[in-house]
Amino acid sequence: MAPRDDTTLMRSYSRLKLRFRIWADTRKEPRDIRRRQAERFEDIVSFARDESEFYGSLYEHLPESLDDLDDVPPVTKSELMANFDGWVTDPEVERDELEAFVSDPSNRAEKYLGRYLAWRSSGTSGEPGLFLHDQYAITVYDLLNAIRGQGNQFLAELPPSDRMAAVVATGGNYATETQMERIRQKSPLHARKCRIYTVDQPTEELVAKLNEYRPGIIMGYPSAVRLLAEQHRSGRLLADPDVVVVFGERLTARSRRQISDAFECAITNLYGASEFTTIALECPSGNLHPNVDWVRLEPVDDEYEPVEYGEPSSSVLLTNLANRVQPIIRYDMGDSISLHPPNCDCGSSLPVLSIKGRSGGILRFAAGQSEEVTVLPRSIEAAVDSDESIGRFQLIQTAEDELTVRFDVRTDADRNAVWSDVRERLQAKLRELGANGVEVVRSDRPPGADSDSEKFQLVQSRVA
Ligand SMILES: [Zn+2]
Repeated sequence: MAPRDDTTLMRSYSRLKLRFRIWADTRKEPRDIRRRQAERFEDIVSFARDESEFYGSLYEHLPESLDDLDDVPPVTKSELMANFDGWVTDPEVERDELEAFVSDPSNRAEKYLGRYLAWRSSGTSGEPGLFLHDQYAITVYDLLNAIRGQGNQFLAELPPSDRMAAVVATGGNYATETQMERIRQKSPLHARKCRIYTVDQPTEELVAKLNEYRPGIIMGYPSAVRLLAEQHRSGRLLADPDVVVVFGERLTARSRRQISDAFECAITNLYGASEFTTIALECPSGNLHPNVDWVRLEPVDDEYEPVEYGEPSSSVLLTNLANRVQPIIRYDMGDSISLHPPNCDCGSSLPVLSIKGRSGGILRFAAGQSEEVTVLPRSIEAAVDSDESIGRFQLIQTAEDELTVRFDVRTDADRNAVWSDVRERLQAKLRELGANGVEVVRSDRPPGADSDSEKFQLVQSRVA
């Protein structure tokens, strides 16, 4: 039997051995991969039970040896965030200190307490989160990317002069922003070859900056890259990338076609989250393969009951099998996905994943007499996301000049007061992006999936 990982938070490990294991497991039978997952799941449950106060009391009623791992109760982000200090397994981690740490932009490439990567979540679930990753977990994410991702093969063929532009949410020490900054700070050369652009700016400004930089690689959310593809087709964006990497939202077949028609280049897709940065990577056959030996994904219905292979889920329970400083076990991610059995032309033994619902609609508003103004989901999400008293929310464009907001408030908050703040912030943001005269309307329906499409989208357009 393979030696089990040692049981402490600060695991000692050999990077080369870990690399070999990930490489070798990629070629194993599906049965062996499932066994690997089950062993690691048992390890993290037992570690969390012993080392995290929160899980210790949550699991109190569970028998010492678990016959059925599905008896482990699911958790939500709000539950974990409400019990933050008892959730983490390192007693030196303090929430207030960590909040201050991630709020300071100069810490983007630094490690909290000198040993943990830390970031905030950028709100795809409509609720703020704070995440920490230990060195072992970071190594696993990096190696998965390097060994199983196509990105590295593309990168190997790129001309050395190629520069990389990431078009992402910024200003909150978010996961992608933090990781890009880590690359930039490796050397002055890295800093010149890699730049971060915020999605939160008017399209013309973004296009002008990219025209000056001329990146060979463009990374970003599908909605942002699609917008750039349109700008390229119309002759405004001169950048002509060799490779496009998309993540963070669902990549629809239509978006993929529009992007590849415009840029005529390779597109690679990955599915990651603040909770686990490389959940699934795209193979040369165009399928997303989740790294189920390191992240357990359970597509579930509204009652947290498993859904069949191929069926769209209401949510997905994620377990991070690599990270111990902040155990994430059967955690309700909110994304609608479906899993299919391993059966791909590329020969991978990993299952195939498709994403059904995640924010991603570009909104187009009529802007007075001039042409339409395009607004990317992340830029208006952020205007609502920063409000502590708001719970879940949803932004729906309901007319050429109308944005409807569905929202929940925290139990002790005044709904009318929250609404007046949220409306003001959204209006200010829309004006800043050039969408003048858009009416921001309140809905009394709670955020949620719509019966006709059965998927939850944080930002969407109902305008043809
Ligand atoms: Zn494949």
